[in-house]
Amino acid sequence: MSEDAVVIVGGGAVGLASAGFLARGGASVVVLERHPELGLDAASGSAGLITPSHALPLAGPRVLRNVPRFLAGRGMIAIKLRPDPGLARFGALAARAGRGELMLTGLRALRDQARAGRELFAELAPDHDFEFRRAGMLNVCATPAGLEEIVEEAELLRREGFEPRVLDGAEAAALEPALREDLAGAVLWTEDASAAPDRALAAFADAARAAGARIETGVEPEGFRRDQDGNVVEVVLRDRSIRARALVLAAGADTPALAARLGTFLPIQPAKGHHLQLASRPSAPRVPMILGEHAMAVSRMGEGMRITGGMDFCGPDRALDPRRIADIVRLSADFLREPPTAADAAGATQWSGVRPCTPDGLPIFGWLRRAPNALVAAGHGMLGFTLSPAVGRDVADLVLGGGRSALEAPWREQFHPARYGA
Ligand SMILES: Cc1cc2nc3c(=O)[nH]c(=O)nc-3n(C[C@H](O)[C@H](O)[C@H](O)COP(=O)(O)OP(=O)(O)OC[C@H]3O[C@@H](n4cnc5c(N)ncnc54)[C@H](O)[C@@H]3O)c2cc1C
Repeated sequence: MSEDAVVIVGGGAVGLASAGFLARGGASVVVLERHPELGLDAASGSAGLITPSHALPLAGPRVLRNVPRFLAGRGMIAIKLRPDPGLARFGALAARAGRGELMLTGLRALRDQARAGRELFAELAPDHDFEFRRAGMLNVCATPAGLEEIVEEAELLRREGFEPRVLDGAEAAALEPALREDLAGAVLWTEDASAAPDRALAAFADAARAAGARIETGVEPEGFRRDQDGNVVEVVLRDRSIRARALVLAAGADTPALAARLGTFLPIQPAKGHHLQLASRPSAPRVPMILGEHAMAVSRMGEGMRITGGMDFCGPDRALDPRRIADIVRLSADFLREPPTAADAAGATQWSGVRPCTPDGLPIFGWLRRAPNALVAAGHGMLGFTLSPAVGRDVADLVLGGGRSALEAPWREQFHPARYGA
């Protein structure tokens, strides 16, 4: 590789999608992934939902209302209080973000980007089967109070161009036989889709390599050499360095550590989730679903079923928590006709990974003030799989300078790192 490369740090959904679009645009691309192999990122273990319907930023009114419960550590969303100035600052910024007009403009930006992402899956990795399905998504509630909350949110989204369908419990069970018949009801989002995310990411990697990108695993930057304007001209590795024309920071929840080496603070916090994957499950749902009161997701994967759950603002503790796996087993019985048993769980794949969350629930996307050729593409929270193809396209547009999407999009300012002084 003779010309200077676009160096992407992070071989997750965002990094691999970016590599594909950049390589197709003619750039020399190197992806550095610190794990010894691909597939150990957060999206590969995610629920695989492709959900424009999740456009409400996390720092929305319902979430903020429930913060005391999260601090108490009850339920599937928990904030572990600890003496961490980063977490305190995150909380203060989130409280400011979740209100009024700011929340609505964020919602519109996420809606448009999520819809763009959904349409670009096929373009990013054509000729690959990764179980992409457009069967919609059911947000199901066991209790009338839970249903009331999600219907309230659905009405807000209806005013923003969505077409939610409210179903009662019997209608939901008729549509999706995996559900119990005694539930309060559901909201059906027909425009949502899903895929097997591990297969999708393997396809992104394949497509990027086919277009000429080099993907190196077991490698992470040790430092950055800069010119007098702060541009990164070399990425220093343990045994060599790579000359860079641009640097893309796509390391999910670990992006702040890289940005710190460029003199920049980014307020991204890891929020840990778990999954339980049953290899063979004839009763796996046809329509993927969110179990409303417990913020868990259930989706068919191949012959089996994956149940994800838990959102623990965990700080550095990334380890799998067996209590969360037990929660997934126990709570899915509130919704599923054939929930997994503890014995099923013992024989199933168990996994944990972290979502990269920002205080305002919006991604961080744009060039850094202190390192003008370093582009941050991180902080996609609960939507990183959905958004990744659109983010990849936008990274390529911005780095190569040709396309219009990222340069003229109305959300450009809103997602920019400058909103956090970066
Ligand atoms: C339980 C769970 C369920 C989810 N379900 C969904 C869903 O249904 N739909 C959806 O859209 N999203 C979902 N998400 C969110 C989604 O997984 C994330 O938003 C997405 O993975 C973020 O992608 P990323 O590429 O930015 O970061 P990551 O997935 O975190 O990937 C970053 C990569 O960078 C690597 N890296 C980090 N630091 C370095 C370094 N210094 N050097 C080299 N490499 C480095 C990491 O090893 C990793 O491979 C879910 C997340 C979880 C945890």
